[in-house]
Amino acid sequence: MITPPDTAPPITRPYIDVHAHIGDTINRAPPVGQTIEKYLARMAESCVLAAIPFPAAGGPLARGVLDTRDQNQTIAAGCRAYPTRFPIGLTIVEVRHQRAGVDELERAMRDDGLLGFMVHSGISGHTLGEELHRFLDVVDARGGVAMIHVGGRGSEARAAAYARRYKHTNFLMAHVSMTKDQHHLAVEHLAHLDNAWYDFAQHPPDADESWGIPDLVERFGAERLLFGSDIPYYDYRILQRQIEAAPLSEGVKDGIASRNAATFIRRFRPDWQLDTAPVQKPAGFAGTDVWAQQPGKPGRLY
Ligand SMILES: [Zn+2]
Repeated sequence: MITPPDTAPPITRPYIDVHAHIGDTINRAPPVGQTIEKYLARMAESCVLAAIPFPAAGGPLARGVLDTRDQNQTIAAGCRAYPTRFPIGLTIVEVRHQRAGVDELERAMRDDGLLGFMVHSGISGHTLGEELHRFLDVVDARGGVAMIHVGGRGSEARAAAYARRYKHTNFLMAHVSMTKDQHHLAVEHLAHLDNAWYDFAQHPPDADESWGIPDLVERFGAERLLFGSDIPYYDYRILQRQIEAAPLSEGVKDGIASRNAATFIRRFRPDWQLDTAPVQKPAGFAGTDVWAQQPGKPGRLY
């Protein structure tokens, strides 16, 4: 049972979102996407004060790696325009771009200041195997960030193998608890890696206590769990409600909501401080419902 977000009490705890896709996913119906300004409008209404943005998987690719470059430069532009809100950003990689994709990753890290990459193997059509090594070589040499979507089918074990191989890379393991079986696979393979942090985006509200948020804290560590929204696909206020309602101390909740992510961000931007002033809703979204759900799909946004 999902609590309708509009009838629940407002969130007042500061949040940092480590899982924000910017751009469009065009290979599904309806297409889903958001600009950096639309995301700022959502942040303004949900007490999210900062985020780590990266492109949406399944974006336009008619021009191949040139489209990827555009996606990456959109992220870099957002980080430059709003440095307190988006202190670090990531690229997207498509393994089918091969050497050209590796070159674009190197370019974006060198010229645009992006810190590594996000990869969604399911949408991009690969299996988190050796095909990603040449991209991870680039990130590891620079001590950057690799954000890996996991979700069953052996992905947890393969993501763990990356973390053991690439010890200078800081891994964000995304979606570690979407189903009960997958939760336990993630615990088995991904917990207690020295160089991994974890989000539990889209953790279902009806999870029983064998895989509830307290179990995530116990298994993955209170200081390694991060809030990740998976915006624009999911109304992440549902997850915020779960965190707020969880039987955990306020200190642990503060850690998950923002403190752990702030510590992570300062590994790369030591001088960055969380701006605790609310995000201002961009004027163009005044009076707009930025949480409109897809018909018949609770929690699914456009
Ligand atoms: Zn995602």
